[in-house]
Amino acid sequence: MMGLAESRDCWCGRPETAEHVLLECPVYYDLRLILLRKVGYHLLLDDRHLWELVGSINGYAAFKIFAKEALERRTLEMEMAMNGT
Ligand SMILES: [Zn+2]
Repeated sequence: MMGLAESRDCWCGRPETAEHVLLECPVYYDLRLILLRKVGYHLLLDDRHLWELVGSINGYAAFKIFAKEALERRTLEMEMAMNGT
């Protein structure tokens, strides 16, 4: 979903699923905080609340930004890894 692949491993070593990126991954911690602040939550939610959030109009707009920035960050990191640095 949203370009977040379902089948490869995340940089942190866990399977990279949308749920992992959105809910768990330390790599995206700051992006997650921004998303939650935008939608009015202070702390990370459980899955059920999160999917409700993504299903709401405002939540979905904020989620799209999160997904875009997460994807950009991942792409950048992969390029750096491929350059051997
Ligand atoms: Zn991760």
